Amino acid sequence: MQNFINQLSTVLETKYILTQDEDKAPYLTDWRKRFTGKALAVLLPGNAAEVANIVKLCAASQVAIVPQGGHTGFCGGATPDNSGKQVILNLKRMNQIREIDSANQTITLEAGCILQAVQEKAAVQGFLFPLSLGAEGSCMIGGNLATNAGGTNVLRYGNARDLCLGLEVVTAKGEIWNGVKGLRKDNTGYDLRDLFIGSEGTLGIITAAVMKLYPLPISQWTTLVACETIAFSIALLNLFQKRATSLLTGFEMMTQESLELNEKHFPQMTNPLQGKPPFTVLIELSDHESEDHVRQLLETILEEAFESGLIIDAVIASNLSQANAFWHMREHITLAQAEEGANLKHDITIPLSSLDCFIKETDALMRTKFPGVRIINFGHLGDGNLHYNIAPPLGTDPKIFNEINEKPIHELVYAQVERCNGSISAEHGVGQLKLDGLRAHKGEVAHELMKTLKRALDPQNILNPHKVVSI
Ligand SMILES: Cc1cc2nc3c(=O)[nH]c(=O)nc-3n(C[C@H](O)[C@H](O)[C@H](O)COP(=O)(O)OP(=O)(O)OC[C@H]3O[C@@H](n4cnc5c(N)ncnc54)[C@H](O)[C@@H]3O)c2cc1C
Repeated sequence: MQNFINQLSTVLETKYILTQDEDKAPYLTDWRKRFTGKALAVLLPGNAAEVANIVKLCAASQVAIVPQGGHTGFCGGATPDNSGKQVILNLKRMNQIREIDSANQTITLEAGCILQAVQEKAAVQGFLFPLSLGAEGSCMIGGNLATNAGGTNVLRYGNARDLCLGLEVVTAKGEIWNGVKGLRKDNTGYDLRDLFIGSEGTLGIITAAVMKLYPLPISQWTTLVACETIAFSIALLNLFQKRATSLLTGFEMMTQESLELNEKHFPQMTNPLQGKPPFTVLIELSDHESEDHVRQLLETILEEAFESGLIIDAVIASNLSQANAFWHMREHITLAQAEEGANLKHDITIPLSSLDCFIKETDALMRTKFPGVRIINFGHLGDGNLHYNIAPPLGTDPKIFNEINEKPIHELVYAQVERCNGSISAEHGVGQLKLDGLRAHKGEVAHELMKTLKRALDPQNILNPHKVVSI
């Protein structure tokens, strides 16, 4: 393998080829510390041509490549296996914004741009880049596209796929496909862009993208409301969708148990609503008109919700810092779970019409079969997306609990998901975590089609092998 490393140094400066253990270590373990692998080297290319040359060398030497962005993914997709024969290709040096096209309302940027930096850059020019998620300070656009990330603005603006107009991709042969076009209509055969989005580095390496921008809202109002049941929360969502239509930009749900966990680890994050409601809903309205218009609309809808018994309490954020505090409360649940220790995560979507039934039935089954477990259920309710996570009973060693119960708990949740015609991965992808469950979930025909695509685009199986599908 020394020969291969020597060859790499013909296409990449040696300082960007990390082979020492201490240099490679930060790239080998995922954010949740669930997966750790080994790598022959970590490579830090600076442009698409370097990526293409690296891929050609890897293809010639049959060395597998694990593309990596911010390494914040939840499914182990960016973590190498244990063979020590794979290389990690981290795109963080490719962080240039190539262009903001105001007339076309698009931004063209490299894959290694940090999401938050993109939002900030767009805002300076008066635009909103709506993709927003808890990891935005470290995740990268390439990773967002490769996982088709969702987050808190999907309800109004869609997920990463919906925001993307064009891509630049290095293929498994080391060719550069230039699809960097900012077109909102382009019906010229198969949609290659959509094929690469959400493929988690298994079909190609995304090196640049053209993304949509939107006008920056001038006013935003955020409120927390208390609901006694999930059915009332969904009825409330429907009420807001009807009355506020496109002004509704956020609708997040947090159960009492998830907020209690938050308060345990972040005591400053207390729920301002009275009496620990079973369901706390965070709602955001955004407008390009006057402050008063959206504030009045929000108050009118909340009054109607009170009168019809959908909500029992509400607090409207009186300033930006209070609105941010509401959002932090929602975003810190993931961090509180990480502080609490290992837990079993389920990132699922259920049609809204079945969600009430799903939660009631699954909660009851879970509490009967696994007494004492804590159900940390929260998520992007507006998208039907729940993070239905299970923490071990208090006083139980999480490692031992999970070893015994991981399989049956996943089986219980996923059987319920199938019964409700939902999905076992709403926004986090498949990676290595859900590789085994995918076949049963997708069905034989879809799974075979996915394998056919993988074989066609990566016949040597060098791009992130054994992630998403195994061929
Ligand atoms: C606190 C926290 C909150 C989160 N909240 C959300 C949320 O609300 N919604 C959501 O969707 N996710 C969320 N996530 C998960 C994660 O942030 C997203 O999946 C994110 O899109 C991953 O980006 P990344 O740059 O970290 O990718 P990585 O983790 O580095 O990689 C993810 C996958 O994409 C592949 N990949 C990375 N870059 C490229 C590239 N340039 N070309 C091809 N393949 C590539 C990798 O091989 C891997 O399979 C959260 C994570 C954390 C830690």
